[in-house]
Amino acid sequence: MQTNFTAEQLADPHVAEAESILRKCVHCGFCTATCPTYVTLGNELDSPRGRIYLIKDMLENGRPADDQIVTHIDRCLSCLACTTTCPSGVDYMHLVDHARIHIEKTYRRPLMNRLTRNMLAMVLPYPGRFRLALKLAALGRPFAGLFDQVKALKPMAAMLRLAPSKVPPASDFARPATHVAAAARRGRVAILTGCAQPVLDPGINEAAISLLTRLGVEVVVPHGEGCCGALVHHMGREEQALDSARRNVDVWTRAIEEGGLDAIIVTTSGCGTTIKDYGHMLRLDPVYAEKAARVSALAKDVTEYLATLDLPISESKGLTIAYHSACSLQHGQKVTMAPKLLLKSAGFTVKDPPEGHLCCGSAGTYNIMQPEISARLRDRKVKNIEKTKPDLIAAGNIGCMTQIGSATGIPVVHTVELLDWAYGGSRPKGLDRAVQV
Ligand code: SF4
Ligand code: SF4
Repeated sequence: MQTNFTAEQLADPHVAEAESILRKCVHCGFCTATCPTYVTLGNELDSPRGRIYLIKDMLENGRPADDQIVTHIDRCLSCLACTTTCPSGVDYMHLVDHARIHIEKTYRRPLMNRLTRNMLAMVLPYPGRFRLALKLAALGRPFAGLFDQVKALKPMAAMLRLAPSKVPPASDFARPATHVAAAARRGRVAILTGCAQPVLDPGINEAAISLLTRLGVEVVVPHGEGCCGALVHHMGREEQALDSARRNVDVWTRAIEEGGLDAIIVTTSGCGTTIKDYGHMLRLDPVYAEKAARVSALAKDVTEYLATLDLPISESKGLTIAYHSACSLQHGQKVTMAPKLLLKSAGFTVKDPPEGHLCCGSAGTYNIMQPEISARLRDRKVKNIEKTKPDLIAAGNIGCMTQIGSATGIPVVHTVELLDWAYGGSRPKGLDRAVQV
């Protein structure tokens, strides 16, 4: 694609990067076929190609964002299906990240939209605040229907509906500690505790730590870890995202210096995509660029790491699993086979639901901010999953698990919970009544 940026504009490294991404797009439109918002809404401006044109026009003309571009960029899930499909290697992720930062800096959102986004940015990344908010949401749930009557309040209704009726107690595994290897030691890793996941489902990291230590891996939960910054990064709040990234880079660098790390294990794939991008996010920071690149190189989805440990083939469990491949795992990190191969080796029958490339509509805060499109994608996803007639659904991202679980009676568990169970750990919570094995 031809671009028309001035030399002065290109002196800004962020604009220069956007320009080099734009130049790779050849307008072929292959990406439209796999874009969930184009498939759902049928509008070219809700396709990757349409958004690329809108971004190009805004950046080239040095314009502030307007209602049109905000509407179509806000509707983008950042699922990155377009990057898997694109034959020209267009780096849509970094282009849309840049557009979101530009929007955040130049556009004044309507009041309710602004307040909702502020609240999400102030609550979700902090486990204590998030836990309290979930408890309050449980009380407010009967009023979700009332909020639905007013367009600007629909995100509140979506939030109340997504909140679980009961919040599990905090887990000891989320506290800073070193969990020593319970077999001949063959590795040392740090694990991201994260923000929303340990509140919604502490059993996921418990299972990961339990499995890894039994396999001979020492697992460190370092002091000072926090939210990876993905939630605010996707809102265009770059400074807040970079602060989170720097804090975690410092924490993990200390852990590397103290005892070495073979990997930084991530059990929420949405976070994994962002941590693997720290090196890029902090590339212009002279103090952090190198440290961040080192951290990104060590970041591994838990299944990526487990795949290196040669787990034994286990006898059949007689259970059929529909494996939901989270967008952040399959498109963001290109981790597609490891989770399925591990589940198969562990004795499960694994089914790939149709249209597996399409997002479930969770996408960070998308299911709150864009509840209508999100619900359509969720229902389509659940219908496709249910076609495989599974006993259980497995996924590697808490957002997807919550989203899919809100629309089906089939139990949804994290891949690592099933692996831990298959190799001698506890049965994932919530399966006791659902599965008789
Ligand atoms: S990231 Fe997903 S929703 Fe956004 S343009 Fe690409 S395919 Fe479409
Ligand atoms: S597939 Fe790639 S090159 Fe083709 S229009 Fe989409 S982003 Fe551009």
